[in-house]
Amino acid sequence: VRSVRLAVAARASRDGAGVKLARSLGGAVLRDLDPFLLLDEIKSDRAEDVVKGFPDHPHRGFETVTYVIAGEVEHRDSVGNSGLLGPGSAQWMTAGRGIVHSEMPRPRAGDLTWGLQLWVNLPAASKMTAPRYQDIPPDRIPEVGAAGGSVRVVTGAFEGAKGPVDGIAVGATMLDVTLPAGATFQAALPELDAVFAYVLEGALRFGDTPDPTPRGTLAVLGDGASAIARADVGGRFLLLAGRPIGEPIARRGPFVMNTEAELDQAFADYRAGRLGT
Ligand code: MN
Repeated sequence: VRSVRLAVAARASRDGAGVKLARSLGGAVLRDLDPFLLLDEIKSDRAEDVVKGFPDHPHRGFETVTYVIAGEVEHRDSVGNSGLLGPGSAQWMTAGRGIVHSEMPRPRAGDLTWGLQLWVNLPAASKMTAPRYQDIPPDRIPEVGAAGGSVRVVTGAFEGAKGPVDGIAVGATMLDVTLPAGATFQAALPELDAVFAYVLEGALRFGDTPDPTPRGTLAVLGDGASAIARADVGGRFLLLAGRPIGEPIARRGPFVMNTEAELDQAFADYRAGRLGT
C-alpha cells in the first residue's frame, strides 16, 4: 500500500500577468516528481485575483493539463484553436515542439473560479512532436461510484471506466475522487508509476500514514501496488500516476527540455517567431 513519503503544503504565489495561485509541485520544496513538473491551484471568488490571466506565452517540450472545477477559462493559440473551458472540463495540451497560447479566466462578479494546472513531461523522443489539444467537455468524463462517493476518470482507467484523454507518453492516470465521511477508497495503480494526491476539500489519510493530509496539500505516495484513502471527515482529491521518464530535466520559464542548449534553442526559436507556427 502506498503511504505518504512527503507532504507539501501549497504556497501562495503569482504567475502569468499576476494571477494568485497556490503552488505545491514545481516550487522550492518539491521541484519535480518525474514525470510531473508542476501543480498550481487557482481558487478565488475575487475577480482581481484571476482576471489578468495568462496572456500569450509559449511552451515547448511537455504537456499542460487544465482542469476546471468552477468558473470558466478561455483559451486561444497560435495554430488556430480556441475555446471556453467550463466547470468539469479538462484540457490536455501537448505542447511538443511549440505553441503560443493564452489562458484567461473569465470570472463573473462574486462567482468562484477554481481550477488546476498540471505539467507533465515528455520523453526526449516526443519533445519535438506536433502540438495537440484534447479539449474534453464535462459529459465526456466518466463518473463512477466508489466507496459511497464518486470518481471522475480523466485519463487512465478505474473500475472498468476509461478516461477520454488518450495517447499520453507517460501512461498517466488522473482521477478526481470525492468521498463521504467514513469512506475508504482503493485504486490499483501500476507499481512503477510515480503517484501523488492533491487534496481539494476536507482531509484524507493515505495508506498506513496516520496523519491526515489536509486541503491544499500534495501528498507524494511511496511504493506499493495500490493507493488507499480514508476519508474520516469526507474529502475530495486528485490522484495522479505516471511512469517516470528517467531523463535529465532542463527547465527555464515555459520550456522543459533535456539540456541547457535545447533551452537556448527554444528561446531563440521563440524570439525569431519560429515557435508555434
Ligand atoms: Mn500555458
